[in-house]
Amino acid sequence: PNSQYEITRRRVENGIKEWWYFSNSELKKLKNDTNNASPDFSSSINKIMTLGLEHARSLLHDINFLSEADGYAKWREREAESLSNIVQERLKYLQNPSDCANAKKLICNINKGCGYGCQIHHLVYCSIVAYGTQRTLILNSKGWIYNKAGWETIFKPVSDTCTDPGGASVKEWSEHPDAQVVNLTIIDYVQPKPKFIPPAVPKDLVLRLARLHGDPVIWWIGQFLKYLLRPQEATEKLLNDATKKMNFAKPVVGIHVRRTDKIGTEASFHSIEEYMTAVEDYYDALDMSEDNVRRVYIASDDPTVITEAREKYPNYEILGDPKISSSAAVETRYTEDSLKGIISDIHFLSQSDYLVCTFSSQVCRLAYEIMQTKYPDASARFRSLDNIFYYGGQDSYYHVTVVPHKAEDPNEIDLKVGDLVDVSQNYWNGYSKGRNMRTLKLGLFPSFKIKNSIKSVTFPTYSEINK
Ligand code: GDP
Repeated sequence: PNSQYEITRRRVENGIKEWWYFSNSELKKLKNDTNNASPDFSSSINKIMTLGLEHARSLLHDINFLSEADGYAKWREREAESLSNIVQERLKYLQNPSDCANAKKLICNINKGCGYGCQIHHLVYCSIVAYGTQRTLILNSKGWIYNKAGWETIFKPVSDTCTDPGGASVKEWSEHPDAQVVNLTIIDYVQPKPKFIPPAVPKDLVLRLARLHGDPVIWWIGQFLKYLLRPQEATEKLLNDATKKMNFAKPVVGIHVRRTDKIGTEASFHSIEEYMTAVEDYYDALDMSEDNVRRVYIASDDPTVITEAREKYPNYEILGDPKISSSAAVETRYTEDSLKGIISDIHFLSQSDYLVCTFSSQVCRLAYEIMQTKYPDASARFRSLDNIFYYGGQDSYYHVTVVPHKAEDPNEIDLKVGDLVDVSQNYWNGYSKGRNMRTLKLGLFPSFKIKNSIKSVTFPTYSEINK
């Protein structure tokens, strides 16, 4: 298919959702306005809300069907597989150099002082820089805070043949980024900043990615996770056993509720009802065509969430293990048991059809990234109750204005076609917040007036592989 066709099809799908978020939120305001208390008015509003929602769902259903009826579904599957094979082969090649003693290397220490999601993101950043600089990644994971014995007890080694960190010269990235062996510090402090860090995607793949995927950088990150998180047999068995034990099946919506130490420091509290409203929405839309079992998988660091959900939503099949959540408490978080729990939670979240969570948490962003490896394009399969997606420490990244906007009140900002916008939030009510990089003004604007942009950077193309 032509790229413009694929991009427009996704834009229409997104536009229908945004249009409905806008209408629904404005109608709610009218309904709650006491000046409009007359019963006739109320009943008209209710009718627009009910039928409007049905109409929006029907449109989404049709546009979804279009992506099957256009005959490109097979192509999407094959294209995703072909692109993934290219990246996986390159990673395997890079990680297993024929002459380890003389290979260029990049050393990465897993023990960044933070949680599992954050540490895995640190590792992904290291691997992306390794790929960008054609260095073999050497993972230092001895004394890993989650498992003292190290990475290889859980996941396959990042290299089968080259694990010796030695070389003729070993230097810090900040001093000698050209030395044979380079130590890479965390993304938050790295100087000079490697040009390869997200949201960069490789130029040699960008056209294909832009056509296939709604948000190519997430696909790209997903490919590194696919390579890094290859489970050891025991880990695979743990996940398979858990799948059977709980009767994990589709359809299923993954819910991640991040509480404990995150609340009040890096995120706000969200009630189970807020998550379930988004879940209900998902299932109501799905049930346009047939009745489905309403199933959710709940992951949380707060064990009361699962019990509360089971009490409040008896018509739902609620999967999830409060014991896992208990082990995620701050006091027991950095233990082998807790590690198994978080690996298993992230696994099931990433296996779901749709994710409802807070993107302020690295746990959910990680699950969402892994999810991209299970579908040709899973970029629209989520609902975040707070932030839009981002990669911690990412380079500046702008959306592009496609429809001009004139501010209607002091909270809004003007946009001209082509203006770059640094988006900080989507309120899922038709509006987003961001800074116009031309005027430097920060404020609200209708979400449909901008589009995603892709930052492509020249990475090595590993053309020697197929010679
Ligand atoms: P963030 O703090 O939420 O951005 O994510 P991090 O992964 O960096 O740190 C949070 C840590 O808390 C995780 O790595 C887990 O150890 C624990 N945790 C948070 N949420 C969950 C959950 O849903 N399930 C489990 N098992 N552990 C969790």
